[in-house]
Amino acid sequence: MQADPQHVDTLISGALLITLDPQRRIIKDGAIAIRGDRIVALGKREQIEPGLLPRHRIDGRRFVATPGLVNAHVHITGEPLTRGFVPEALDFDENIFRWQVPLYQAHTPAEERLSAQLAALQMLRCGVTCFLEAGTIIDLDAVVDGLRESGIRGRVGQWVQDRAFDPADRQATLTDRAVRTLESELLRYPAAGNPLIAAWPNLIGHSTNTDECWRAAKALADAYGVGVTAHMSPAVIDTEWFLANTGRRPVEHLDALGVLGDNLCLTHLVHIDAGELELLARSGTHVIHCPQAALQGAYGATAIGRFPEMAAGGINLMLGTDGSVPDLMRAMVLAAGLFKDARRDPAIFPAHEALTMATLNGARGLLLEDQIGSLEVGKKADLVLHDLDRPEWRPLVNAVSQLVWSADGRGVHSVWVDGRRVVDNYRCTTLDEGALYAAAQAASSRITARTGLPERACWPSI
Ligand SMILES: [Zn+2]
Repeated sequence: MQADPQHVDTLISGALLITLDPQRRIIKDGAIAIRGDRIVALGKREQIEPGLLPRHRIDGRRFVATPGLVNAHVHITGEPLTRGFVPEALDFDENIFRWQVPLYQAHTPAEERLSAQLAALQMLRCGVTCFLEAGTIIDLDAVVDGLRESGIRGRVGQWVQDRAFDPADRQATLTDRAVRTLESELLRYPAAGNPLIAAWPNLIGHSTNTDECWRAAKALADAYGVGVTAHMSPAVIDTEWFLANTGRRPVEHLDALGVLGDNLCLTHLVHIDAGELELLARSGTHVIHCPQAALQGAYGATAIGRFPEMAAGGINLMLGTDGSVPDLMRAMVLAAGLFKDARRDPAIFPAHEALTMATLNGARGLLLEDQIGSLEVGKKADLVLHDLDRPEWRPLVNAVSQLVWSADGRGVHSVWVDGRRVVDNYRCTTLDEGALYAAAQAASSRITARTGLPERACWPSI
């Protein structure tokens, strides 16, 4: 006796599925069914289709389907509205303190909301369905409000620093305020129940957080079942500061504080030694590699970075776009290529490993491994359709190789997050793209003017 057909909301039929499931199956002429927020059926079309009654059927023969990508480090405020304004050829300190920080602080809450929506739009349109924020600068409530409208999934948090660099500041007051900020955001935006947007303790990192602040962030993360994220060691100044002020290298100091662990995600870690790598591996700390940031910031990732050794040592390596345009597919190609060239070893980071970093590894670091990161029955319906009717995809020969080495986010045709189609035929369904672009253009001029920083274009604009 045949079972009754199963009602589903959407059936994508005939696509090539790159599942990232435990067997890493690539299913030709595959089908995937969505009901509510979940994938409820997936497999060969001829086996799946007869048992389903879809409300909406999509001819998938034109598409490669992948899990939604996870951008594990992205500045959704501070940079999206002023990207390109900061000149090249600045050293790390001048770049951050003379240019970036004044631009960050010149935003109003309404501009941060707009910035977050622009970043969400850019991510969704490039197949990123989930992200870990690098830290909201000014107003987390405005940012969350904007993000909720977009339909993207993310973990966010106010950017927290507490070290009293100014002698006029009282250290205890700053630390107390920072810890209250961290706890308050966890109460306002709890991760329990897996909402699309939830808060994590989000430290600036580097030398800006005291030991007390680090310990408090870790204790809060443990208590609330979330993670902590922070920047560390993109440049040698972090190493120098920690050695001078603690007698230890940065990761050694974090280990001594007891804050390393599998709910800590550290971004950059270009300047680490073998001992720090060992501590990261042993503690299960996740590492976020932002290859474009390293290239633009001249961090030395290809010269001294230990990312291949981190992967070999079992460290969960994720990918982020940092302050650059949040197309994670561009980060994938850089991750796959940079160390091949630097070490003259074509075996380093094959395309399938770069794709794993951008999907499953990201899901794991964000503590969402049981929900997202692969196309599997029971997981959230966070998925991407890449359009094969484009120059970079024809002829289709090896989908994983082409996804990393040929394609980029511009070939993303459709995207679902939590079962909702948020991109359809290259257009975002949740945000008004035209209005957003116009508002972003106007806001950008206002923000840069407010800082009083000079325009330093390389050539005259007439
Ligand atoms: Zn960053």
